[in-house]
Amino acid sequence: MTKRQATPETTTPAPAKERRRAREISAAPVVENVPRRKRNGRPGKAREADLVVIGAGSGGVAAARRAAALGARVILVERDAIGGTCVNRGCVPKKMLSYGATWAAILSDCLSHTGGKEDWRDAIVRVNAEVARLNASYAQRLTEAGVEILHGEARLTSPTEIVVGNETLRTRKTLIATGARPRVLPVPGGELASTSDDVFTWQTVPASMVVIGGGYIAVELASILSRYGVKVDLLVREDRLLPRFDHDVSAALAGALAAKGIRLHFNTEVTLLSQANGATEVCYTQDGNPGRTQTVRAQAVLAAIGRQANVEGLGLEDIGIELGEKGGIRVDRQFRSSERALYAVGDCMAENLHLTPVAIAQGRWVADRLFGKRGDLADFDIVPTAVFCEPAIGVVGMTEAQAIEDAGKPERIRTEIKRFVSLENRFGGSSQQSMIKLVLNARSGRVLGVHLMDNAAPEIIQALAVSLRLGLKASHLKTTLPLHPTVAEEIFG
Ligand code: NDP
Repeated sequence: MTKRQATPETTTPAPAKERRRAREISAAPVVENVPRRKRNGRPGKAREADLVVIGAGSGGVAAARRAAALGARVILVERDAIGGTCVNRGCVPKKMLSYGATWAAILSDCLSHTGGKEDWRDAIVRVNAEVARLNASYAQRLTEAGVEILHGEARLTSPTEIVVGNETLRTRKTLIATGARPRVLPVPGGELASTSDDVFTWQTVPASMVVIGGGYIAVELASILSRYGVKVDLLVREDRLLPRFDHDVSAALAGALAAKGIRLHFNTEVTLLSQANGATEVCYTQDGNPGRTQTVRAQAVLAAIGRQANVEGLGLEDIGIELGEKGGIRVDRQFRSSERALYAVGDCMAENLHLTPVAIAQGRWVADRLFGKRGDLADFDIVPTAVFCEPAIGVVGMTEAQAIEDAGKPERIRTEIKRFVSLENRFGGSSQQSMIKLVLNARSGRVLGVHLMDNAAPEIIQALAVSLRLGLKASHLKTTLPLHPTVAEEIFG
């Protein structure tokens, strides 16, 4: 199946109530002000604002609402759906698909006699209904907060003057929060590969798929798609999955994904994509052996090889805004660009963690600083993060390798690893092991990192992040009563 073939087919069967609800939500009017082009093509009267935010994703929406709550006149410009990547093409649809697949897996393990099975067509209708509800709810909450929404492409003529269609906006400050988009695979035929944006528009899934990449998105989508019945080959450039995660977590996850039928190929370099007989062929070399090209064929190919900042068309170079090597906007510690009136937060920045809560915290902080009191900046050193594959990964703090580098000597760091089969897995008849790894300061017992592989990991890690920030030690874990029976209790005692 090619990228095109993988996209919408016919209408999707789903429970009638769900379909009706999805229709109602999608039909709800989104409060927007669409600038109309004047007949003579000349710009209309300029509008005044204290803050113009370009981009209505997580960072932009958070900043706009906070600034409006602090009394600023805010105009929020967005060319696409309100909510950005997280709501429309990222966290929300991905997490819902993952829930659907997990429940289906539990059902088909436990209730195989009743034929419980995953169903992408049904799942994607539920996902689209929730995304439509969130789009409408974001727009409503922004309007209630007093933010004016303009739908269109923004172009800066100066750091404080922005043209959207026929409107000119004059502002005291501008915040760019335009996010990022998937990188296109830089090889001949690379355009044949779908990206994560495409996946959420599919009404059906291909029978087989090659996923290229080894980071968050490749791992999550390989895992989700395989649970919806797709035969997945995962081509990873590095020698392990999730190269920025702890090596024991990478190894445990590789074992778990392979046990679920995903074929993993490490140390691969993709060289060419081509179409042949209705399938896509992916040529790659392995283990640095350029003389021996290997081929894998599948109905569709997905490239998840990182994301690049959405800055094109904004006119930033023309007004002298400094960009980083990979194209993102360079900012200082206060998220100010090379022009003092222009700020940037979230994935469009040159160097940043591409995580929704990071963008939200940055957006609110900028709004607080500009229009309110000096706000508390979130702690960007201890950032909890999760990979929503099956089993899920949740992590906070340093990997073993980072801790050793930080401490200077390996003997200054101690680790504890536990592997166990959770009750959930035992009930489902699975022998899939969960894993907990603690990275500790060998002398003080201070917990420097917690790495967890289990479907409960993301929820546990969120709560543990506070403890880590407050200086959690191994002795605290030993003297805090565990809650039984949980996965979390394995960290204690
Ligand atoms: P990541 O940066 O996580 O991973 C990209 C991977 O692709 C890297 O391992 C990279 O290897 C590899 N790669 C790069 N170029 C090529 C190539 N030409 N051929 C093969 N492999 C290549 O990017 P993602 O796209 O997965 O995700 C983007 C960001 O979105 C993440 O960094 C994350 O912050 C965020 N995200 C977070 C999620 C969550 O919180 N659950 C979910 C999804 C996304 P190398 O290191 O060698 O360049």
